[in-house]
Amino acid sequence: MSAIKNKLILTAAVTGGLHGKAANPNLPEQPEEQIQHAVDAWKAGASIVHLHARDKDGKGTQDNDIYRSVYEGIRAAGCDMIIQYSTGGAMGMSAEERLSAIYAEPEMASLNMGCVNYPLPDGTFTMSNNPPNEIEWYAEEMKKLNIKPEMEVYSPTMMTDVHNLINKGLIDAPYYVNFVMGMPAQGAIAATWENLVYMVSLLPPDSVWNCCCVGRPQLHITTTAMLMGGMVRIGMEDNIYYKRGQLIEANKEVVARSARLAEELQIEIATPAEAREILGMEPVIL
Ligand code: ZN
Repeated sequence: MSAIKNKLILTAAVTGGLHGKAANPNLPEQPEEQIQHAVDAWKAGASIVHLHARDKDGKGTQDNDIYRSVYEGIRAAGCDMIIQYSTGGAMGMSAEERLSAIYAEPEMASLNMGCVNYPLPDGTFTMSNNPPNEIEWYAEEMKKLNIKPEMEVYSPTMMTDVHNLINKGLIDAPYYVNFVMGMPAQGAIAATWENLVYMVSLLPPDSVWNCCCVGRPQLHITTTAMLMGGMVRIGMEDNIYYKRGQLIEANKEVVARSARLAEELQIEIATPAEAREILGMEPVIL
């Protein structure tokens, strides 16, 4: 039996804010689909679900009623996993709109730690704009509501803003940092083993780190993170394929695969209660 702090937290990022059913018809968009995928991912070993709400047409929305209906549906199934909402939202949302998801009061919310410039199919670019003052504002609001920030770090330079939040007392230890590897965008670090080792070397003391990775290197990079003592996020936000040429049918498939790999590597999976203890969060009341 390993110490709780050495256990692996698996996060299922079930939907995302970029692609829709045109990319993979199995992508959960409506609340009942997201609830099913989250609960199944929990049964497969995930302790955290990362959510992006979608409206009736499948478009990204930060509508609090939709977030709440997914939250309540997950809990109604007797599922105690940590529920994390995105404040990255979807392309074209204002900073106010993206932040507004937290007023539906999740236990945890993502917090982008810098700017990333995404290429669009027409050859232009769109910025996920996260200047330091807005990062501080997001962190302040999350602190007021006792929401744990999951700090999304896309490049080494974004660690500057992690240290800024710590220095200003805007986040509490343990600091939860998610390294987002391999986004095909300006300002995002490539998904290589060397880069992951370097990113981990930049962490402040009292950190818990997670790794997620986009596209083809996902399985190898997240499994490497597991071996390095990191936590792992998988799911259809990050990769719509189970393997080359085979679409994922349900998020539980990739959660179960990472759980199987962990078992073979003799790494124990954290339950949601253990994940809350590792991350310094309060127990949930079902
Ligand atoms: Zn997301």
